[in-house]
Amino acid sequence: MKNVYLDNNATTRVAPEVVEAMLPYFSDFYGNPSSMHSFGGNLGLKVREARARIAALLGAQPEEILLTSGGTESDATAIHAALAAYPHKRHIVTTRVEHPAIKNLFEQYGKNGYRVTFIPVDCEGRIDLDEFRASLSEDTAVVSMMWANNETGVLFPVDEVAAELKARGIVFHTDAVQAVGKIPIDLTRTDVDLLSLSGHKLHGPKGIGALYIRKGTKFKPFMVGGHQEHGRRAGTENVPGIIGLGKACELAAGKLNDIDTRVRGLRDRLENALLEAVPQSMINGERANRLPNTTSIAFEYVEGEAILLMMNEHGIAASSGSACTSGSLEPSHVLRAMGIPFTAAHGSIRFSLSHYTTAEEIEFVIEKMPPIIARLRQMSPFWQKAAQSG
Ligand code: PLP
Repeated sequence: MKNVYLDNNATTRVAPEVVEAMLPYFSDFYGNPSSMHSFGGNLGLKVREARARIAALLGAQPEEILLTSGGTESDATAIHAALAAYPHKRHIVTTRVEHPAIKNLFEQYGKNGYRVTFIPVDCEGRIDLDEFRASLSEDTAVVSMMWANNETGVLFPVDEVAAELKARGIVFHTDAVQAVGKIPIDLTRTDVDLLSLSGHKLHGPKGIGALYIRKGTKFKPFMVGGHQEHGRRAGTENVPGIIGLGKACELAAGKLNDIDTRVRGLRDRLENALLEAVPQSMINGERANRLPNTTSIAFEYVEGEAILLMMNEHGIAASSGSACTSGSLEPSHVLRAMGIPFTAAHGSIRFSLSHYTTAEEIEFVIEKMPPIIARLRQMSPFWQKAAQSG
């Protein structure tokens, strides 16, 4: 069997059509879009086309799209802009399960004098809307809530939160890095002010992303310097990346149905088969509304990193917790916030599929996983102890 890549929430394969669209902008059309000569002449038009494609995937206007270097920069730019626009407000709100791009940013603002509320989640990874409402005050400058969680795929009530915040005049940012390209997003129907996305999560290149800034939202640039992006983000444009992101967004729009039906079916087949074949396994966030491509399965009394190594021997790529935190052996902050018991959090594996995933690949994983878990449990003193105590 060839390699089976089920780590698409970490990053995705760049679509061949995207590579093809980008290549001329390294070799033939390498000018600077700001230049007066004709090497750069047509690039402005191409960048405009790409911006329009990105906007179309979101139901946005092209001028509402700010091009950035990726999800992390979009997140930082959004929060910086909101705080700079309302300097007298000193309270910021987010959830306990955000990606480190938001989590660490909010912790940093906390150290710099802001009052930060981290809204807890229940055992399914869902926030309590009443608790969220109770946290808001006249002093709240911005709320940042992810659209979809990168580890569990749990979806957040973005529409409801956006409507509530609009009524109260509080800026709302959503980190939609894991949602864009996996579920339909229509910003004409939701009152989000700021939204982050990242190219490499939707079969585009790394190092390119976008921040949606709703028309009328107060904005102060995070990166100052040249006049690119109408003075909203300095730095020479990453033209091949922008073209690639535009193409990736155009392709993503045509794949949403496949992800919602075929890919969801493959994910469900994987979950059901593994839960049936492996005793003491469970899905983290099973009862929550989730992304169709993601499942986080806890195999109790085994070590996630050991499972990944054995999966790797079969050419299967997945992730334990978030790829960004897998350098540490601590259970992820997301699973801890959900109150997943230590013995289960430690053995949690995230499988994330894409529209390239095939039924054959999923059957291969279903065949290989149970013996891996059984072998590791034979070596696990925790499992032996648990088995003895019934
Ligand atoms: N936000 C979420 C939810 C993510 O999953 C990630 C990447 O894993 C990021 C932000 C960071 O995006 P980037 O890698 O483009 O900086």
